[in-house]
Amino acid sequence: MKMLLTKKFAFEMAHALPGYEGKCANLHGHSYHLDVTVEGTVMHADGMTVDFHRLKELVEHTVVERFDHALVLPRGAGIEAPNLVEVDFQPTTENLLLHFARLLEPVMPEGARLYSLRLAETDTSVAELVM
Ligand SMILES: [Zn+2]
Repeated sequence: MKMLLTKKFAFEMAHALPGYEGKCANLHGHSYHLDVTVEGTVMHADGMTVDFHRLKELVEHTVVERFDHALVLPRGAGIEAPNLVEVDFQPTTENLLLHFARLLEPVMPEGARLYSLRLAETDTSVAELVM
């Protein structure tokens, strides 16, 4: 048996996919929905695998606060903005998930490990990364 716990987050983010042939090359934004699922390896005496509140704080601090209302572009895209976050990759949903996983894995609480991340760019476009 294993225990899976999911915490859900939402944030607004602008991005562009330079070089892409289509509308996504233009600056635009999404209301992203991020589901973070952790696998519990321990059941603590308090009846919890991971405190949802602690998981919420970790994800908010590590991912949501950095990317909410940010403009995310590949480094060197040539656009300046006070909320610019430059990344070393094309900010597709898939690449964002890989990046979020790299940020979250080292901060997982004891007894938990990242199991999957699910990122919805729109109601109909969802990527899921399973570790
Ligand atoms: Zn987009």
